Amino acid sequence: MVAYSRRVSSGTTGLAARPMAPSRPAGSGPVPSEGGNGLTLLLVEDDESLGSQLERGLARAGYQVRRVTSGEAALSTAHMADLVLLDLGLPDLDGTEVCRLLRERFLTPIIVVTARGEEPERVAVLDLGADDYLVKPFGFAELLARIRAVLRRSRPGGPGAAELAGSSRVRVDLRARRVYVDGTEVSLTPKEFDILACLAEDPGRAVSREEIFERAWDAHWYGPTKVLDVHVAALRRKLGDPQLIQTVYGVGFRLDPAKPGETPR
Ligand code: CA
Repeated sequence: MVAYSRRVSSGTTGLAARPMAPSRPAGSGPVPSEGGNGLTLLLVEDDESLGSQLERGLARAGYQVRRVTSGEAALSTAHMADLVLLDLGLPDLDGTEVCRLLRERFLTPIIVVTARGEEPERVAVLDLGADDYLVKPFGFAELLARIRAVLRRSRPGGPGAAELAGSSRVRVDLRARRVYVDGTEVSLTPKEFDILACLAEDPGRAVSREEIFERAWDAHWYGPTKVLDVHVAALRRKLGDPQLIQTVYGVGFRLDPAKPGETPR
């Protein structure tokens, strides 16, 4: 029902029912290799054929692509992504609700993809926290251009800045998985890093124990929850200041919210 690129139009997938956008004629040349710099895109698309084609195309453009097919999966994997490409027509959750929840939890840029039949008003989607949106069918070159534009806007500090999260004293490089306290790198175990990354994405927000477990362990952790406290204790020790990770009684933890400036969003 949907075409996204010249590649589809010549294929046998049955997806080429619509013409390409006029500005992106078929056969306009190879997909430009823009060097995605290994940034990770989370592709949320339940259409198997379209999803796999987009996945291949984005990989060729230099991005690491992680594809999921449901809203639930999107919410549980978005923390790994530098940008989320979100199809609104999902099998489990309403895509606009997924968009809202993603924005509530993460700073990760979101580009919403809608089909004609589910096309919401532009303003509504942007109000929900999307950074941009595309209506199917779209040209692949246009998709790449929008991804680049959104990434540029989200990274005013230049390459790498979007991968940084943290408070005034703690900087977490989510992509390189490195942590700095007052400019000095601190060595963390993978689990400690995952826990800190959870907190650092939105300093000041109380993150529940359940959410931390879901993200740093997996969705079905049945072991003792005390293990989280052990890791947090170790983290506090390594960070050198117990106040950086604050206990929110009855809820979970939050990272010291003091920040030198506002986040882009
Ligand atoms: Ca869909």
